Amino acid sequence: MRYEGMIFRPPSEAESLILQVTLGCSYNRCTFCGAYQGKAFRIKSFEEVKEDIDEASSYMPGIRRVFLADGDALVLSQKNLLRILDYLKGKLKGLERVGIYANARDILQKDVEELKALKDLGLRIIYLGLESGNREVLKRIKKNATVDQLISASRRVKKSGILLSVTVILGIGGLEYSQAHAEDTGRVLSEMDPDFVGALSLMVVPGTPIEQEIEKGKLILPNPFELIQELETMIKNCQLTNCFFASNHASNYLPLRIQLPEEKEEALRRIREVLRKRDPAFLRPEYLRAL
Ligand code: SF4
Repeated sequence: MRYEGMIFRPPSEAESLILQVTLGCSYNRCTFCGAYQGKAFRIKSFEEVKEDIDEASSYMPGIRRVFLADGDALVLSQKNLLRILDYLKGKLKGLERVGIYANARDILQKDVEELKALKDLGLRIIYLGLESGNREVLKRIKKNATVDQLISASRRVKKSGILLSVTVILGIGGLEYSQAHAEDTGRVLSEMDPDFVGALSLMVVPGTPIEQEIEKGKLILPNPFELIQELETMIKNCQLTNCFFASNHASNYLPLRIQLPEEKEEALRRIREVLRKRDPAFLRPEYLRAL
């Protein structure tokens, strides 16, 4: 496999073969994101992708899951994606699921029928970054989509039958927007109604614009308990039909893995207990937090 640069994948794709079909992110301007700093965006040729699939299938013929990288691989044309998925299906007989990162604009470039065609060839899960449901916060972090676009994109994915996993970031609005960010994110998640939600806490990556905002005092980060308060507010405002909600990412102070709506009240009770006691012993130690 000829990997180029750092490779990122969702935690749930830890067992998957990572297949780089693009390099970097076609947008690459979100102020908090350092994942593809200095990595020029490029679409790999089908020949390059094919060689990687051939190699992987020769030494790992039993691969069941594949994740298409890098940052927003759904930006590929429908024709290109169908070709890659078709080739994967032919070479990996045990293949059960292909996953991919996408941004809202990539999704909205495809209609429901096109997404269904991708699903039929194995694309079973799309990972979409919401980050925040607050309009002002989305503008400030230069997210490449509006709340309305993010909701429309989610509904399109859900209609196609592809699983939807959405990421949100605690602390991304700073102290100033902490409450509004948490409330609006809970409400927007309810409208998106994803199958999975992953809540991360903002980790400041050196060299990113958000680091400069913090250095200049324009953005003040919430403390650990204020981040947990955001988590409480977010979950309280979530009305989801069937969702696995996880805040067990290594960046978080309070790891949770809950099924919503069934475990909502129990999760809120637990979070409120932590907030009431304010005992740092309940929190993941700083040295164990990482991206
Ligand atoms: S769209 Fe995703 S990968 Fe691209 S810059 Fe924004 S957060 Fe990073």
